[in-house]
Amino acid sequence: MSIFDAPAYDGHELVTFGKDAATGLRAIIAVHSTVLGPAVGGCRMYPYASEEEALNDVLRLSRGMTFKSALAGLPFGGGKSVIIGDPRRDKTPQLMRAMGDFVNSQGGRYVAAEDSGTGVEDIRLMAEQTPHVSGMDDNEFGGDPSPSTAWGVFLAIRTAVRHRLGEDSLQGLRVAVQGLGHVGYYLAGYLTQAGATVLGADVNEDNLRRAELDHGVQAVAADAILGAEVDVLAPCAMGAILNAATIPDLRAGIVAGAANNQLATEADGDSLQARGILYCPDFLINAGGIIDVHHQRIGSPDAEKRAHIQRIEQTLSQVLRRAEESHGHSNDIAEELARNMIARAGQSLAA
Ligand code: NAD
Repeated sequence: MSIFDAPAYDGHELVTFGKDAATGLRAIIAVHSTVLGPAVGGCRMYPYASEEEALNDVLRLSRGMTFKSALAGLPFGGGKSVIIGDPRRDKTPQLMRAMGDFVNSQGGRYVAAEDSGTGVEDIRLMAEQTPHVSGMDDNEFGGDPSPSTAWGVFLAIRTAVRHRLGEDSLQGLRVAVQGLGHVGYYLAGYLTQAGATVLGADVNEDNLRRAELDHGVQAVAADAILGAEVDVLAPCAMGAILNAATIPDLRAGIVAGAANNQLATEADGDSLQARGILYCPDFLINAGGIIDVHHQRIGSPDAEKRAHIQRIEQTLSQVLRRAEESHGHSNDIAEELARNMIARAGQSLAA
């Protein structure tokens, strides 16, 4: 299939390939949309098996950022960057500075932030070469947005449970959390505080133990968590885990988690719907982190940030209701809602 026909391409405004022989940098910056503002999105470093895999990842992530920021009512477009390489082996200060030059060459259309494989230190190195970075200074921006992401996902689970089961309380609910890292750990805490029973899995033993000790999470083997007998499955590890191989084994009635791009393909959304599983679109419900970053940047009081994250509940309710009425699937409805918001903003900017 040609790049232009690939679903993840979806009319990207700009895709740029950067190579620097001196430092070994091989990177791609994807800017899906700048209609609502600069394309703010993480810079991921990952040992992709091929350039095609890296391109597909950056396009899917960038597109997801457009919808995420639009639905969250943020003045940001959608973009993302990837560096092809193993962060533990290939990362050097020179390489990150070269990435800074590459980001700078986009003239502010793309603003880079941390993502998996990069951290505050890397953003600082990039900032030596470009002003177009975000989340560089712990003191200025307040650091880790993961608790806010987890809080948004928690609110989404509550909304989905109300919608599907007619219950206001999470008391006695069984939730399986795949991945107990930055987001999954906090999510498990919010859930147990609300009276839910949390089953959790992580391939990292330390993260699993920490969640067991701090939040009373019941450990499940990593290869058994997706098929656990629960009410809600919360994928908080990696993308594309909802696919033709895993969907037949799911036993949860609701899927609501933080991981980006959980559906491997659009057809997997249909398969979930055919099985009667309520899917909460990831780009809608994991926006707490980027909302947090925005409020840190403009220096809002905490209450304002929390009220903004709370709006995820209303947007999700609206999407779930529309999906039910139209017999459509929630991912498509959420995308359509985001596209309409962007089109309206585009028209008023042009007027
Ligand atoms: P993280 O790397 O801190 O945590 C991921 C955890 O998943 C790790 O503990 C890892 O060991 C575990 N894991 C990996 N493979 C696994 C497997 N097969 N089975 C079980 N556990 C496995 O990442 P995070 O910041 O918590 O983010 C989790 C997901 O949410 C990612 O997909 C990320 O892109 C997405 N997300 C995060 C944020 C945020 O604010 N951190 C915001 C939006 C989306």
